[in-house]
Amino acid sequence: MAKGNINVAVENIFPLIKKFLYSDHEIFLRELISNATDATLKLKHIANSGEAKLDYGNPIIEVKIDKKGKKLHIIDQGLGMTIEEVKKYINEIAFSGAEEFLDQYKDKAEDSGIIGHFGLGFYSSFMVADKVEILTKSFKDDEDAAHWTCDGSPEYTLVKGKKKDRGTEIILHIADDSTEFLEESRINELLQKYNKFMPIPIKFGTKEANDSNHVPKTTKDKDGKETTEPQKKITIDNIINNPNPAWTKQPADLKDEDYKSFYRELYPMQFEEPLFHIHLNVDYPFNLTGILYFPKMTNDLNIQKDKIQLYQNQVFVTDNVEGIVPEFLTMLRGVIDSPDIPLNVSRSYLQTDGAVKKIASYITRKVADKLKSLFNDNREDFEKKWNDIKIVIEYGMLSEDKFFEKSDAFALYPTVDGKYYTYDELHDKIKANQTDKDDKLVILYASDKDAQHSYIEAAKAKGYEVLLLDSPIISHLIQKLETTKENVSFVRVDGDHIDNLIKKDDTKISKLSDEEKTKLDELLKEVVPSEKFMVQLEPMDSNASPFIITQPEFMRRMKEMQQTVVAECLEWAICQKCIT
Ligand code: ADP
Ligand code: MG
Repeated sequence: MAKGNINVAVENIFPLIKKFLYSDHEIFLRELISNATDATLKLKHIANSGEAKLDYGNPIIEVKIDKKGKKLHIIDQGLGMTIEEVKKYINEIAFSGAEEFLDQYKDKAEDSGIIGHFGLGFYSSFMVADKVEILTKSFKDDEDAAHWTCDGSPEYTLVKGKKKDRGTEIILHIADDSTEFLEESRINELLQKYNKFMPIPIKFGTKEANDSNHVPKTTKDKDGKETTEPQKKITIDNIINNPNPAWTKQPADLKDEDYKSFYRELYPMQFEEPLFHIHLNVDYPFNLTGILYFPKMTNDLNIQKDKIQLYQNQVFVTDNVEGIVPEFLTMLRGVIDSPDIPLNVSRSYLQTDGAVKKIASYITRKVADKLKSLFNDNREDFEKKWNDIKIVIEYGMLSEDKFFEKSDAFALYPTVDGKYYTYDELHDKIKANQTDKDDKLVILYASDKDAQHSYIEAAKAKGYEVLLLDSPIISHLIQKLETTKENVSFVRVDGDHIDNLIKKDDTKISKLSDEEKTKLDELLKEVVPSEKFMVQLEPMDSNASPFIITQPEFMRRMKEMQQTVVAECLEWAICQKCIT
């Protein structure tokens, strides 16, 4: 029997582990199942490479609760460990990993977010257990099994074990303050959260199923009445995960229906179908796979974010992808899987990390390319969906310059009559008729078809096109378009009398004498409340109504922009970018 001290220098590592990231205690299960998965995949590799002669079979990982004994078992059929390997990997390497992790991060625990998700490994079991046992048998036939026990003090025992079959069993003696992890429902919740798409089947409990070898007999009684005997039931392993999720497959092997059913697997409570998907797949200069979905979006900005799930090699990490995915795409849904995202760093660091920046710009480019091909391949369908996706696209145009540059290929400008133009098409269409005397192209738009009806009609009577732009961030986008496109201005149809919105010449002569003008001005000021309106006399076309109420474009737009900043700000930085 061997007894030993793990490391005297940091005697108090276990209390530290326990205290560390209190709210994250649950990650122990993910760490242990990750280890079990690694061990199984390593065995597969050995079998495939022919390094050793062995029968790989169909290994699974099993999670078992022993409520009476207050124990939780995690059992794999992977490559196992020899006694020497336990010494090396558990006593030395795993421990030094945990130690290093704590050293590095114990002072920074508040800089929460991703930190703490990775790195603690095997020793995270001591966050919930006051004693841990390892029973393991290596795939190397002539090696003894090993039995390691540690009660949370730095002392451990390591003896020859009795395990006969290949693989490793971890037994956690659950501590009194962690008995929640002896509840089936709690373990099930964790397995669903972290392990739903891990590559090795995970068994948790059993379930009843129909016996497929049994065909129920149907018999007729003497009156000719048929009765069928009941279907025979058998108990089968309850496998909780899908080891081959859609994102790990090749796009060519998937049909539209497969993407939809994967969406339902990800969001079982979501009844609406996604509008379209984008399959991400890159292996150079970084590794990233995933599927993003455009859900049907409403026009309000309180869109639920945090719907994209981040995985590393099929292990769930977080559903807060801030800093990894560009802000405007956090409105999408789906999965990103990348082993190349450094997760043991703070979010503020993430945003400056070169690799992460590359990932973000790759995703942005992919999304833009996909939108472009959707538009080119089926314009009619794209137009139909425009209203449900425009908020993401407009937000992206505002916040990501690269996306803005590409957006000319698919961003649409709908008219009040339900026509859809790209910017260039619109430009060509209205150039002749809507260029003013200063050679500026004037783009007319409405925000509310009913409220601005008479203004819209007046514009249409002149043969002008009127866009319908009604997103909450549209004033910001207009501002951006005016500063990037050459010689254009956007004006809302109720900004002034139509002849003033697109001024073709200045030669309108008033029919009133100066005296008449002063008199009219005085009379109007008496009846028009001055705190709300400003009276202004101007010569106008004789067909125009004698009085109109207008809202000057500039003032109104500034006000709207400020309102979207205060009331429904998506991101301060963006709003400020537009204003300045
Ligand atoms: P990491 O997984 O990052 O290497 P861990 O602390 O989780 O760190 O595990 C340390 C080492 O212990 C592993 O690298 C592996 O060699 C060994 N190990 C842990 N669990 C198992 C297991 N179930 N089967 C075989 N080896 C294991
Ligand atoms: Mg590990």
